[in-house]
Amino acid sequence: MAVDSSPPPPPVNEKFAKSLEFIEEMTTNPDSVQKGVLAEILTQNAHTEYLQRFNLGGATDRESFKSKVPIVTYEDLQPEIQRIANGDRSPILCSYPISEFLTSSGTSAGERKLMPTIREEMDRRQLLYSLLMPVMNLYVPNLDKGKGLYFLFIKAETETPGGLVARPVLTSYYKSDQFKNRAVDPYNTYTSPDEAILCVDSFQSMYTQMLCGLLMREEVLRVGAVFASGLLRAIKFLTVHWRQLALDISTGVLNPKITDVSIQKRMAGILRPDPVLAEFMSRECEGENWEKIIPRIWPNTIYLDVIVTGAMAQYIPLLDFYSGGLPQACTMYASSECYFGLNMKPMTKPSEVCYTIMPNMGYFEFLPHPPETEHGAVELADVEVGKEYELVVSTYSGLCRYRVGDVLKVTGHHNSAPQFKFVRRKNVLLSIDADKTDELELQKAVENAAALLEEYKSSVVEFTSYADTGSIPGHYVVYWELSGGAPGGEVMDKCCHVMEESMNSVYRQCRVADNSVGPLEIRLVRGGTFEELMDYAISRGASINQYKAPRCVSYTPIVELLDARVVSAHFSPAPPHWTPERRG
Ligand code: AMP
Repeated sequence: MAVDSSPPPPPVNEKFAKSLEFIEEMTTNPDSVQKGVLAEILTQNAHTEYLQRFNLGGATDRESFKSKVPIVTYEDLQPEIQRIANGDRSPILCSYPISEFLTSSGTSAGERKLMPTIREEMDRRQLLYSLLMPVMNLYVPNLDKGKGLYFLFIKAETETPGGLVARPVLTSYYKSDQFKNRAVDPYNTYTSPDEAILCVDSFQSMYTQMLCGLLMREEVLRVGAVFASGLLRAIKFLTVHWRQLALDISTGVLNPKITDVSIQKRMAGILRPDPVLAEFMSRECEGENWEKIIPRIWPNTIYLDVIVTGAMAQYIPLLDFYSGGLPQACTMYASSECYFGLNMKPMTKPSEVCYTIMPNMGYFEFLPHPPETEHGAVELADVEVGKEYELVVSTYSGLCRYRVGDVLKVTGHHNSAPQFKFVRRKNVLLSIDADKTDELELQKAVENAAALLEEYKSSVVEFTSYADTGSIPGHYVVYWELSGGAPGGEVMDKCCHVMEESMNSVYRQCRVADNSVGPLEIRLVRGGTFEELMDYAISRGASINQYKAPRCVSYTPIVELLDARVVSAHFSPAPPHWTPERRG
């Protein structure tokens, strides 16, 4: 099947036509949609404790809202959020009951941020999902003729002291009735049984999803996961477990490690001995040559459905290697706070991907980035092409003028709605999967670990870091230059472990529950390395007076300079401690 990039043909059915019409309607006059959304939010939440505080006096217009209600961060809202978590059911942020907390992969004081949400929001998220296939169908027809191999996972959930469930937004979605009772839709048929997606044990879930993908390999038209890191983890899983998978396929007997009863029951109806398929798989895998493994195993794959924008861009070369350069479609831009929008040209190459924020999803404002003193936040309709902004959102769930922390660049328009390139998330130094480590967290981790050096009369003079994604799972590398002699390897291993223990809960969850981040590595570099790094930076135009050692490097010549001066490398010998419960 050809991937078409010429002007789109008309939609194939009534439902798709309606969805596309809806997108046209929303993007033709985004300003009036935004005006309506804000009025709706402010009317709905007029009597909340939070809005009452700012004396809006019933006003629902943008001017009153922007002049009276402050722009806030998570930390500003934490007292209110804590009260909700502790069981206060009064209308604090939202007039509707808070149905659960969505736990963001962004953290505050080392723990996932808790985003209050209401039942109605699920419908709004569902609406955005429903727009994706009508758009994709304009570029890739006939996706109803096969299936999607999507690696989808739920994660552990907890309960707040007040009895509300706290879990990631996708866990909430996959466990919802909307997902479980979804109508049969030939355009959205997956190889993964719900029982596998809904199994919290990541090994059993992945194993079953891979097995089903293999059994239905010829029907698969698209292969995906939410983020690129997730798909690469699945491919890595295949490279490690293909023998057992082939055995199951050849005998028709499920791996005894799959102990989840609902998976066992479901697989009893799917798994049949297929020695021919098992033999094919073994032939493809036994040479351990993984180049183009995706199209070799799933020959009808038209594209990969994964987010490769933002921090995930680091995985594009590896995805190209495994897929033989299949298109990588980034379809949507969303967060726990709010689902934002979609990519109107999903088959464009990753470097050109831009997202159209759907003005019905929430009320959006844009803070010029870097901040301009004379300008406050501007409206969705007023952003300027070529400029960068930080996204601020007000939601039906009660967030008002909340800084999401994403920096976006305006690249153009779809109708009158601006389109944005995702530039980066603010303050993220290192990221491998869902983990995001900022400079302060890294600094604290180094300090905690360096305390072990004191008794050896040694200390860390300088450090920097690098997200090593050359192999899967990727891992953090921290380069240390020491003064005094280096202590023994055992002490250095312990330093790695202390650093991991100091990381935020999302990092530790990735290490422990998801195995999506590998053991942290400290590379000791010889004395004088950081001075050489400075000389290098100055030779490239950095100012001597202002030079500070970078706390993270990614530029290949610098990584090579550091690596050429490594005297020893040490890995964390054991995963850090993690449980779903929040610390403190
Ligand atoms: P979470 O807080 O865990 O719900 O993650 C939401 C964040 O993931 C967003 O605020 C972005 O920083 C990032 N994100 C979501 N979708 C995309 C995308 N399509 N491209 C780049 N980054 C994204």
